[in-house]
Amino acid sequence: ISEDWDFAIRVIEKIENAGFEAVIVGGAVRDHLLGIKGNDVDVATNALPSEVKRIFSTTVDIGIEHGTVLVLDEGQPVEVTTYRTESDYSDYRRPEQVIFVRTLDKDLQRRDFTINAMAMTKDGQIIDLFGGQQDIENGVIRSVGDATVRFREDALRMLRAIRFSAQLDFTIEEKTLKAIQQDCDLIEFIAHERIAMELSKLWKGKNVYGGIQALGESHLDKYLIGNYKANEQHWEKFHTTKSEVGWAYLCLLNREEIQDIFDFYRLSNKDKTFIRNVMNAYNSLLKEWSIMDYFTNDLTVLETAYDFAVWQRQNIPFEKTEIKRVKENLNIQSVDELAINGNHLIEWTSKKRGPWIKVGLDAAIIAVLNGYVKNDEQTLKEWYLNEFTNEG
Ligand code: ATP
Ligand code: MG
Repeated sequence: ISEDWDFAIRVIEKIENAGFEAVIVGGAVRDHLLGIKGNDVDVATNALPSEVKRIFSTTVDIGIEHGTVLVLDEGQPVEVTTYRTESDYSDYRRPEQVIFVRTLDKDLQRRDFTINAMAMTKDGQIIDLFGGQQDIENGVIRSVGDATVRFREDALRMLRAIRFSAQLDFTIEEKTLKAIQQDCDLIEFIAHERIAMELSKLWKGKNVYGGIQALGESHLDKYLIGNYKANEQHWEKFHTTKSEVGWAYLCLLNREEIQDIFDFYRLSNKDKTFIRNVMNAYNSLLKEWSIMDYFTNDLTVLETAYDFAVWQRQNIPFEKTEIKRVKENLNIQSVDELAINGNHLIEWTSKKRGPWIKVGLDAAIIAVLNGYVKNDEQTLKEWYLNEFTNEG
């Protein structure tokens, strides 16, 4: 097993030494079998949360009602969750209440897809009750048990199926897909933030285009904001490692619906700012980027706008690599690098603080960026007094 898991193995050993069982479960096992470096390692155990807390000296109750204790003893945090089932689903959502159980089987059974329902012992032995290894080999997303039942328990799983298919470039098994098509309207019961979280992961997938197609094929797109099906072909070459790029792309393709997208998915202010910057950069790119566009936008914003323009078959008369080169060669990289600030302007003019300061500094930035004025205090002072006052 991977050395990255040393800390998780030590957690498992301590739980075992206390007389309980513990295994690695879920996404970590899946990613291990796929040879992908996953993000976090989850441990499941038959010990109750109170028992787990007695074994370790430093723990945090991050979801005690769901049976999850965060163990900090081994340097890296490990989530340790008590084996549980989730009965009494209501409103097509995952229940708040869980029932702790003492056997691993039941815990694996409640998991959504066969590829996510495997466990691994500390020696690397795989426990696979539902054919998850076979499905990994064939690249298949398949519900554990009866797909219809599982989606009616928790409708978010429908979108998770699509997210995993995009993330891993897997196909959705026929019965599983049929069940989604049949009950797609249940997605309306799911909180939009949770939908947005799945889409954020979808954007970073290996096959985003396949995911967008699956959204249309499953009819889930009917219940989401954004014209997924109509814009399907535009996603063909889409690839990113940053979820905000996906959101920006969705907004660029649905420009009349931007506010609705912001509201429906409850996007963060950070994402919204990024999206607005990309939109502005895209619009000005269709004319021509000024040096200020390069200065005010970060590289990801500019590259996203550029990629979108290329995807839209706009004729852009320069290579993408130019963007980085131009940006790196700017005379100043940020406002902080300007040799003067607002206090200088006040001192030179004896005027009261006001909006005129920003006007003056912006002009100075443009002058320095264009190389009209050298970026030192004395030169800028002469230039400023000459440009903005009559005394100069
Ligand atoms: P990722 O790499 O995106 O974190 P993951 O498989 O770890 O993938 P999580 O959402 O972190 O996904 O969930 C961890 C595990 O919990 C899953 O592998 C799955 O076994 C189980 N799980 C998560 N959400 C659900 C759900 N809605 N229904 C059933 N099981 C779920
Ligand atoms: Mg995870």
